[in-house]
Amino acid sequence: MAYQAFYNKYRPQTFDEVVGQKAVVATLKNAIKENKIVHAYLFCGPRGTGKTTMARLFAKALNCQNGIGKQCNNCDSCQAIIKGEHPDVVEIDAASNSTVDSVRQLIDSVSYQPIMSRYKIYIIDEVHNMSNSAFNALLKTLEEPPSFVVFILATTEPQKILPTILSRVQRFDFSKVVKNDLIFNMDRILKKENISFEEGALELIASLSDGGVRDSLSLLDQAVSYSGDNLTVHDVDTLFGLMSIEDEIHLINLISDKKTDEVIKLIKSKYDKGIDIIRLHNDLIALYKDALIYSVTKDSSLLEKANVEQIKLIKDDASTLNNRIKELIVSKRDYRSADNVFAHFELSILDLMTSENAHPTPILQKERPLEVAGMNKRVQETEQLKTKPVVITKTNIKKGFEAKKVEETKTEDKIVYNSDDILNLMEQADREERLKVESKWGLLQNLFASKTAYEARALASCKLRLVAKGILLVTSNMMSEINKINNKSSQTILMDIAKDVFDKAYHVLPIADREFKDCYMSYKTGKKVEMKEPNIDFGDEKKETNSTQFFDELMNG
Ligand SMILES: [Zn+2]
Repeated sequence: MAYQAFYNKYRPQTFDEVVGQKAVVATLKNAIKENKIVHAYLFCGPRGTGKTTMARLFAKALNCQNGIGKQCNNCDSCQAIIKGEHPDVVEIDAASNSTVDSVRQLIDSVSYQPIMSRYKIYIIDEVHNMSNSAFNALLKTLEEPPSFVVFILATTEPQKILPTILSRVQRFDFSKVVKNDLIFNMDRILKKENISFEEGALELIASLSDGGVRDSLSLLDQAVSYSGDNLTVHDVDTLFGLMSIEDEIHLINLISDKKTDEVIKLIKSKYDKGIDIIRLHNDLIALYKDALIYSVTKDSSLLEKANVEQIKLIKDDASTLNNRIKELIVSKRDYRSADNVFAHFELSILDLMTSENAHPTPILQKERPLEVAGMNKRVQETEQLKTKPVVITKTNIKKGFEAKKVEETKTEDKIVYNSDDILNLMEQADREERLKVESKWGLLQNLFASKTAYEARALASCKLRLVAKGILLVTSNMMSEINKINNKSSQTILMDIAKDVFDKAYHVLPIADREFKDCYMSYKTGKKVEMKEPNIDFGDEKKETNSTQFFDELMNG
């Protein structure tokens, strides 16, 4: 027998088998019982929560030959719906049929009597994808539909539906399915399949599925095909590269307490075990979002990722949460161009720990970055670093480097430096000066672009990290971009521009994010920098989830 995915094999065939959505089921059942069928329904809700399944079940109940409201699953009508061959139940995916013509065709067919049943039922999935003119064509039909026609419109994005349509439909909101219902459903299926399992494995899958029945079952499919007939927590852990919500909340609190060492240790150990870094990044955004929503509303029904008890463990205040979310969303975009996904994640987290509360800011914006909670001891340990001279020079000559001298000499080659130089710059970082530079950073970039557009794009991809000793230190995660800036011609142009813009001939020193991060760790902990192997581009590019797209939209205004 051909293998059938759990989601299809165990698709509910009656209202009573539906996982979650109790309110929707009760209302639909009642409408049939009291003979209050309207001509148009709108099923709204997140993906994978059973909107299409519910539409088919409703169609079944309306047309069952053993009586309206029944779902006998034996009569010709029920069987035809199960097989997807019912002549009076038409399913349309608006995502692929969004033109006016296809809607016109549909509307033309509306006036014909049903062939074998009481009702002609049109299920239009992803209805928000219809064009405006298609919407308008549909609207005309909704105004005066034949008595035997029922429309069921389904959408994940009700806010995109025209108000004129909304006013003509009865709306049902599908909610994400709670974890226990998902677990109960998976439990039932595995027992029928004679597969033994550890409870914790189902818990993990349930939290990964984010309230979607479809997701939970497709993850379960994968897990079972990996584990065979005994599903363990370890299997799920290995297969999906997981970090539990408890671990994630622990991480959030370590970040909040600025326990740099422990944060790095925790994420490093999870990374070594193979967790999916981008998923973790998304999970953190989701948890911060939950915490923010709860701190503002105190409404536990609005939580999506965690439960109230878990959310209460997060100590950050609303404004910090808000900033964390914004910063994580911004840094998430850079994975596309990151040479090393893990290094980029580490750096993003370090940024969170050092940013100020008022607005998102990169590392080293504080005047005294060492004076963070719990770090004072380390300040003393790093004392010896402070006394070293800054040795960045054009030719790697180990001597003092002053802005004044720069004005007298021209850069001849690229800036050569070592990790001690960077540590020294960190030590000397001047906040006031950086703020001044930052206020005219755009102007510098524009002037640079007017002279050399190609290199200017490279500079635009860099982040200004600190200003010290006549040096503007910027970082990028692409070596190619760094090389475009750190060469004779770019340096000469930039220095001239800087002289015009800031009245000071700054050097712009571009270094790798990774290198900066390593130096920063060393700066904080006093341990020596280990030189890492060159970063390799893994070409990792992950599809974004709905929730992050939502935030991206928010961020873009
Ligand atoms: Zn039937």
